[in-house]
Amino acid sequence: MNAYAELHCHTGFSMLDGASSPEELLDRALVLGLRSLAITDHNGLYGAVCFAHAAQERGIHPVIGAELTLEDGHHLVLLAENQSGYHNLSALISRSQLAHSKGQARTKLSWVRERSQGLICLTGCRHSPVAGRLLDRDQDGAFAALQQLLSIFDPQHLYVELQNHLRPGDRTLVAELAQLAKEVGLACVATNNVHYAERRGHHLQDVLVAIRHNAALPEARRWLYPNSEYALKSAGDMAQLFEGYEDAVARTVAIAERCQVELAFRDKALHPLPDTGDVSPDERLEQLCREALPRRYPDRSPQAERQLAHELDVIRHVQLAGYFLLVWDIVRYAQRHGWLARGRGSAASSIVAYLLGITNVDPIAHDLFFERFLSAEARVMPDIDLDLGARHREEVIQYIYQRYGEEHVAMVCNYVTYRQRSAVRDVGKALGMAPDTVDTLAKQLTWPYRTTIAEAMSQQRALAQKMPSRLSARLWARFLQLCEAIQGLPRHLSIHVGGMCITAAPLHEIVPLERATMPGRVVMQWDKDAMEDAGLIKIDVLSLRTLSAIEEALDLIEGHHGKRVDLETLPLDDPTVYQRLCKADTISTFQVESRAQQQALVKMQPRTFADMVVEVALIRPGPLQGNMVHPFFRRRMGREPVSYAHPLLEPILRETLGVIVFQEQVIRIAVAMGGFTAGEADLLRRAMSRHRSEEAMARFRDRFVQGGVERGVPRETAQGVFDQLRSFASFGFCKSHAAAFAKTAYDTVYLRERYPAAYYCAYLNNEPLGFYAPRIVIGDARRHGVTILPVHVNRSEGRCTLEQRAIRLGLSYVDGLGDAAIQRILDARPAEGFTGLQELCFSTRLPRRSVENLILAGAADAWDTDQRSLLWNLGRLHWREEALPLDWPPDGVQLEGMTRAERLMAEYSATGVSAKGHLMELYRRQAKQAGAMRSDELIRIQAGGRVRVAGMVAVRQAPPTAKGFVFLTLEDEHGMMNVIVKPRVFQGYERIWSRGLVLMVEGSVEREGAVTNVMAEAAWRLA
Ligand SMILES: [Zn+2]
Ligand SMILES: [Zn+2]
Repeated sequence: MNAYAELHCHTGFSMLDGASSPEELLDRALVLGLRSLAITDHNGLYGAVCFAHAAQERGIHPVIGAELTLEDGHHLVLLAENQSGYHNLSALISRSQLAHSKGQARTKLSWVRERSQGLICLTGCRHSPVAGRLLDRDQDGAFAALQQLLSIFDPQHLYVELQNHLRPGDRTLVAELAQLAKEVGLACVATNNVHYAERRGHHLQDVLVAIRHNAALPEARRWLYPNSEYALKSAGDMAQLFEGYEDAVARTVAIAERCQVELAFRDKALHPLPDTGDVSPDERLEQLCREALPRRYPDRSPQAERQLAHELDVIRHVQLAGYFLLVWDIVRYAQRHGWLARGRGSAASSIVAYLLGITNVDPIAHDLFFERFLSAEARVMPDIDLDLGARHREEVIQYIYQRYGEEHVAMVCNYVTYRQRSAVRDVGKALGMAPDTVDTLAKQLTWPYRTTIAEAMSQQRALAQKMPSRLSARLWARFLQLCEAIQGLPRHLSIHVGGMCITAAPLHEIVPLERATMPGRVVMQWDKDAMEDAGLIKIDVLSLRTLSAIEEALDLIEGHHGKRVDLETLPLDDPTVYQRLCKADTISTFQVESRAQQQALVKMQPRTFADMVVEVALIRPGPLQGNMVHPFFRRRMGREPVSYAHPLLEPILRETLGVIVFQEQVIRIAVAMGGFTAGEADLLRRAMSRHRSEEAMARFRDRFVQGGVERGVPRETAQGVFDQLRSFASFGFCKSHAAAFAKTAYDTVYLRERYPAAYYCAYLNNEPLGFYAPRIVIGDARRHGVTILPVHVNRSEGRCTLEQRAIRLGLSYVDGLGDAAIQRILDARPAEGFTGLQELCFSTRLPRRSVENLILAGAADAWDTDQRSLLWNLGRLHWREEALPLDWPPDGVQLEGMTRAERLMAEYSATGVSAKGHLMELYRRQAKQAGAMRSDELIRIQAGGRVRVAGMVAVRQAPPTAKGFVFLTLEDEHGMMNVIVKPRVFQGYERIWSRGLVLMVEGSVEREGAVTNVMAEAAWRLA
C-alpha cells in the first residue's frame, strides 16, 4: 500500500498563482486518500489559519510552510517542524516583505541561516538554486548551492526535492538531483508543486498567471505551465511517476508527521500595559472600576454592583483584564487631548467598559446583555470598536505605535477577492476579449442584484446576439465557466478600515507583516477572521466625522456661552429632542437623518431612548430587506396584535413587540429555548453571521430543536424559531451597538436644539458628512432660526465661524479656493481689513480666477454690491499673479447681469451654497403661476388630491431593492417634500429626474400615517 503526503502545495493565497481554495484542495485530498497536506504559498502565510482549521475539520493533518523567493529570484520551500520553526518562518517572511516594496519580497540566505531553527527545507522547484542550475547545465553551481544549504540545515532538515510533471527532461532532472543528493549524503523527497486541486483547474491557473502578468493568454504563453500535471495526486499516481524513487515518495509521510504546529496564540496575544507596576492587571482593573462606580452610579445601585462583580469575575477567568486596560489607555490618551473617543459594538454592553469611559451608554439602565460581548467560556476573543473624530484618528494610531512599539502593532488586512465584476473584467482581458465588450458586460452586474453573469448576458439581448458572432461559442462558454471559478479567490490585500492588532510577543513572529499601499503602513497577512481564529486580539480604531463635528460644537459653545456641555452626564429624556424626532426634523443629525429613517421616525413616534435604540437597529438595509420592519411597525401602530411563537420568548422579545430585532435576542433565545450555554449561543450567532457550512448549521439546528423539545416546546415550533433566528442573524444588529449609535444621535439632536448656531457651524466645518449636501444643511439651519452670512473677504476665516448668533461662511466654501489661497488671504489681511479690490489683489497676488470667484461668492459685497462693476474693475487691474495648486471646476462663471436672482445663482455656483437666500425664491413666482404649492401647504392636502409642488432636489435615491422606483426629496424655503417616481414615470422623463436641480412635479398625494408622499406623474425642470 502506497502512502504519500503532498508537501509543496499552492492555494489561491499565492495571489494569482494557485487556482484552488484551501478547502477545495483539502476536499480533494480526502477523495485521494491523503492523510496530510502542506500549504506552501509564495512568501506568505495568508491562508495558514484557514487551511489549518479546514484541515482539522476534515481530519487531515496540516503542514504549515511557505515557498520563499530568494534574493537572486530562486525558490526555496520551508516547512515549520515545530512552534519555534513557525515563529522563525513568520519572522523570515516579515523581514523579506518589509525590506522590499509591496509584492516584491526577497529573502537573503543569511537571514535563513539566522532563523533556521525548527524549519525543514526542501530544495524547491525548477526555479530552485539547485534544480535551476542543473537545468542551466551548471553542475558545479548546483553542487555548491546544495553545499551552501547544507551549511545551514543538517541532513535531517534538508531534502532534495524531486518533481516530475512529464515535461521533456523531467526524468533526467530527477535522476541528476537524486545523484547529487547521494553524493552529499542527503535524502530525496517527491512533491508535485501543486497549483490546483483537479486537472481541470489548469485553465483557471493559466488565466491567473496571465492576469498576474497583465497580459492576454497568448502573450503570457512563456509563463504558463505546459500541461495539467500540477494537480493534487494520489499516492498511487506519485509512486508510478517516481518509479525507482519509491522511498522519496514514502518519506513525505514521515516528514509531514514530524511537522506539528498549532496556530493558537492566545497566551501571546495580550500586551501588558507598560506601567501597571507591581499591581496585577486584574487588580488594576478592579481598582479603576471601583473608583468610577460612585461617579457613574451616584445612587449606589446594587444592580450595578452585582453586574460589576460578575463582569470582573468573567474577565479574570478569561484573563482579559489587560485588554480592557489597553483600550482604556487609548481612550484616556484621546480624552486628555479633549477628543471624543466612543466605544461601540458589543463592548457597549459592558459595565466595565462604561466605568472605564470606553463607552458612554449605561448598560444597566438600558438592559444591555454582557454575554453578547464576553462569556466565561469564550472561545473567541471579543473585540472593541472605538470611534474617534476624523481629525485625530491618525494621532491616536501613532500613539499606539509609540506606546507599544512597531514590533507589536500592525493593521489587520482584508483579502480583496474576486467578485462578478472584477471576474468579468480580468478574465475577459486574459481571454483577449474586446475592452468595450468586457466593459458593457461588467456594468450589467451591478451589486447587489443577484444575477449570474449568464443571466446578465441574456438580459442584454443585443449583447447576447453580438457576442457569439464575435467570439466563438466555445470561448464564450469557457469565459462563463472561468468567471464562476475565479470568484472568491483572493486578488490582493487591502487594509481593514480600522483594525489594529497589538500583541505581547513580537507580532512578526506570529504572523508575517508586509507593506500596505499607504506609505509607512504595515499590515499583517491575516484578516479579522483569521486573527480571531488564531486567538489574537483586535481593536478597531475607526474614524467618525460626526465626532469631529461634536467636538468642534462643544468648543464653540464653550467659547460663546462660557460653559462646557458634558455629554457624559446628559439625561436622555429631553422632551424637545423627542418632539424633533417624531416630526422627523433630523437633517444634519447622526444616524436618523436619512429618508428611510425619517419615514420610520414618523411611524415610530419615539418617546424614549429605548425607542431610539430600536429605530437605529431596524432602519438599515438588512432588516428592510428581511421584512422585519413591517411587522414591527404594524405592531407598534396597533394594527396587528403582539404575539409570541412560544411563551418562553415573551420575556426576551417583549421590548421589541415579539419581533427579533437584536443579536442579543438570538443568544438569549438559544439559551432559553435551545438550552445552549451563553458561550455556545454566541458561537451559534457567529456561525450564522459567518455563513458556515450547511452541515455545521444542521448540527446546531438539531441541538436547538432537541433542547426545545426537552423544555416542552413542540418540535415544529422549535424548528420554526430556529429558522427565524437564522434568517435574521445574517443582518442582525447588536443592541449595545445600536445603543451606542443612538446615544451619538441623541447628542446631535440635543446640541442642534439647544445651540443651533454652534452646531450647524461645526457641522458645516466637517463636511462632507451625513446624508445631505451643505446647501440643504444651510436651508435647514435657516429654518431653525440661524442666520447665515455670506463669505466676506474681511470677516471670514478659513472655516465657518460664529458672529454673535449667526454663522459666517468660511473662505473654504469658495469653490477652487484651496488651503494655500486661503492662507495667503489670511496672512495678507491687515487688522482693519483690505480697503478694496486693488489692495486685495496686490497684496495677495491671487490668481485672477480666485478673485473672480470671491466676488461672485459675494465676499466683496462690502466694497460694491454690484458685482458686475467689481468684475469690471478687476479687469482693469494688473498684478503679478502667483500660481497656486488649484482645483478648478470645469464650468466657467457667468459674468453678465447681476440682479438679485443672478447674484444668488452666482453665489451658489461659486460656493455650492446660498447664504443670501433660498434658490427656490428665484422660481417661486413661476411655480406659483403654474399652480405649485409650498411644502407647508402640501401637508394640508387630502390623500388622493392632485397637486403640483416645486423645490430643489435634496436627495435622489434608487435603492437596488426598490425595483426601479426612484425616491426624491425636494426642498423649498419652508421644508422638505417626498416624491416617489414609478419606473414607468421615471423612464418617460429620465433626463429631468436625474439631471434637474430645481424641479416642478405633478402627482397625487399619498398618506401613510403622518408621512406624505407625492406619487409623481409628470415633471418639469426649472433649473
Ligand atoms: Zn517554485
Ligand atoms: Zn511552488
